[in-house]
Amino acid sequence: MTTTKKVPAYAAQSATSGLAPLSIMRREPSPEDVEIDILFCGICHSDLHSVRNEWSEFMATNYPIVPGHEIVGRVTRVGSAVTKFKAGDVAAVGCMVDSDGTCPQCKAGLEQFCPNMILTFNSPDKHLGGFTYGGYSGGIVVDEHFVLRVPSNLNLAGAAPLLCAGITTYSPMHHWGVTKGKKVGVVGLGGLGHMAVKFAHALGAHVVVFTTSPSKKEDALRLGADEVVLSRNADEMKKHTGSFDFILDAISADHDIGAYIDLLGVDGNLTLVGAPAKPLCVAAFSLIARRRSFSGSAIGGIAETQEMLDFCGVHNITADVEVIPIQKVNEAYERLLKSDVKYRFSIDMASLKS
Ligand code: NAP
Ligand code: ZN
Repeated sequence: MTTTKKVPAYAAQSATSGLAPLSIMRREPSPEDVEIDILFCGICHSDLHSVRNEWSEFMATNYPIVPGHEIVGRVTRVGSAVTKFKAGDVAAVGCMVDSDGTCPQCKAGLEQFCPNMILTFNSPDKHLGGFTYGGYSGGIVVDEHFVLRVPSNLNLAGAAPLLCAGITTYSPMHHWGVTKGKKVGVVGLGGLGHMAVKFAHALGAHVVVFTTSPSKKEDALRLGADEVVLSRNADEMKKHTGSFDFILDAISADHDIGAYIDLLGVDGNLTLVGAPAKPLCVAAFSLIARRRSFSGSAIGGIAETQEMLDFCGVHNITADVEVIPIQKVNEAYERLLKSDVKYRFSIDMASLKS
């Protein structure tokens, strides 16, 4: 039988309960496992979608849920077969904690598309039964393959969001060849969007931010945008018709995706990473007319996540964070819904002990 250790956490008991303290169990590290004391955990909009069961049709929430998949912490113990980490190291965990390791996707370094991939929270827990619990907790035990190294020059509170917001925006930019000379759009300046601006700028692209928030204009330019468009202004939008090589859409709510597809040039691609619950409407002719493509993307594989973290180390990239104690998490969710965060909440897990 697996032995366990109790750790403090914050959990939601239902879609409407909000988050409150709960003691959860973590397994004793097996030979392949790394045990981590969590220092910071970012708040992703996916945490909010899951806590409130907004994706019930695709990925129903199992309660209680302990969200959090932007985890940075310190290694406390390692199993006997672990080679990459030792006690005292800084380590990070993102959206996945397991996969089968044998399917074609795993072999190609695309663990995120493995049919047996286990998410950091709300996936079946093969070790303890029940469902996996995420990073709004004091500690976590994870197979070494899913544990990442954080470059030593990065601020840890700002590095935590790289584990989801970072890789989710970095991966499609690489896939679609964002580089110097390309015109790149970023739609929605939230947690994901502001990372996308930093990456596209670092890759040398001409970056245009589309925002519904006039108050974010100055920030967008400071973060690396070359132009900012207020997306509710039809005239401003029209000026960019047919001109983009690539657009990354990171909006969390229902919106008119067609308005952005119209901005793509011949062979341009719009990749959706935002995950609103309702289906989006796309006009056939907007795609046909210029051989445009519309695709999606989910996080990134483990090797690519490490590559992204190393890229951040070289370019000194972290998220712009507002550090909060865990006790403010429910308030933070309300602010996230109002697009009122610059640009990611990062929970200081030391607050769990107070
Ligand atoms: P976030 O910080 O809340 O940012 C979302 C942004 O979308 C807001 O800041 C806002 O930007 C814009 N927005 C919000 N409501 C809008 C509306 N009604 N109309 C137009 N724009 C609106 O969220 P996030 O954490 O970046 O996550 C964004 C989405 O990506 C979520 O749906 C999340 O679940 C999803 N996600 C997907 C993956 C993946 O692997 N594909 C990974 C992580 C997250 P402005 O103020 O600039 O308009
Ligand atoms: Zn996320």
